[in-house]
Amino acid sequence: METEIILVTEENLDEVVQKATKLLKNGELVGMPTETVYGLAANAFDKDAVKKIYKAKGRPADNPVIVHISDFVMLRDIAEVNEIALELAKEFWPGPLTLVLNKKPSISDEITCSLPTVAVRMPSNYISHAVISAADVPLAAPSANLSGKPSSTTAKHVFDDFFGKIPLILDGGPSELGIESTVVSVVGEKPVLLRPGMITLEMLATIAPDIQLSNSIFEELESGKPVESPGIKYKHYSPNAEVILVKGSLEGFIRHLKTLTHGNICAMCFDTEQEKIPIPSISYGDINDHFSQGRRLFSALRMVDKLGSSKVYVRVTEDEGDYLAIYNRLLRAASFKVIEVE
Ligand code: AMP
Ligand code: MG
Repeated sequence: METEIILVTEENLDEVVQKATKLLKNGELVGMPTETVYGLAANAFDKDAVKKIYKAKGRPADNPVIVHISDFVMLRDIAEVNEIALELAKEFWPGPLTLVLNKKPSISDEITCSLPTVAVRMPSNYISHAVISAADVPLAAPSANLSGKPSSTTAKHVFDDFFGKIPLILDGGPSELGIESTVVSVVGEKPVLLRPGMITLEMLATIAPDIQLSNSIFEELESGKPVESPGIKYKHYSPNAEVILVKGSLEGFIRHLKTLTHGNICAMCFDTEQEKIPIPSISYGDINDHFSQGRRLFSALRMVDKLGSSKVYVRVTEDEGDYLAIYNRLLRAASFKVIEVE
């Protein structure tokens, strides 16, 4: 299959949206930008199209996908909406928040992997909004990366992963946020934050003061335990290189790097630190700006493999507040390997 990439502009938007919609109606997959990361979209009401997502990504059959909507009518067609869900949706949609809700019969087991719940998001990116609304059906769209690999934050990343496997990629430029959505389950007694994102715990607590943080954010799952969000079972966001986090000060990071026998290794650090790092390094943003880190994290992880490194040591600071979403992605990329330094 030939894969076409189209750069979307305000001028060609209608034409491009028509092309994407036609493919989606025919059960094909389309790579599309959202404000979080690029998504691999299929008609959520077409079971065979949804199956194609799993096949193209190599996604485990028990990891459900998020359904993307463009208005509240679509929401009511697919999920039971309770009061807290509605309050959170009104505050944060359209935007980078996914809500886990009880599903309605229109949502198939292919989407939810037979769970009684469905994860739903209304993206704000104008291209994804236009595509969903023109398709007039919700779109299933997990991140457009091969399963386990870093998410795609440019159309080129999508092309690198799905060249020859999907017919169309819409290029909307680099993702505005670069980190996947915050996922909150609202089906239990209290809302539970399952995956941190740019909508932080503190922001959610303004609407849902009793929100809980899922243990799975920091802990590796014990086998045999029930899973709140199946995706957390799997290694994620990982380049081919082994990822090791080094937590603490810049001085401690440098001291640690100096103890290593320099082979085929590299480092990830923050802007302005690179000149002090004794091995090849890649910056993943401004230390004081989690938005800049979000925009650059996945490109930096993909760059590690471009350098051909076998190991990357990543400088990390705290594990809370605005940095939590970044820390969570890195912790999973590192399969929870963290070295603490002074
Ligand atoms: P992604 O593949 O990057 O779009 O990630 C989707 C995330 O949402 C994964 O961690 C999934 O496990 C999670 N998810 C999707 N549907 C559900 C659901 N019904 N209940 C809990 N988590 C879900
Ligand atoms: Mg993903």
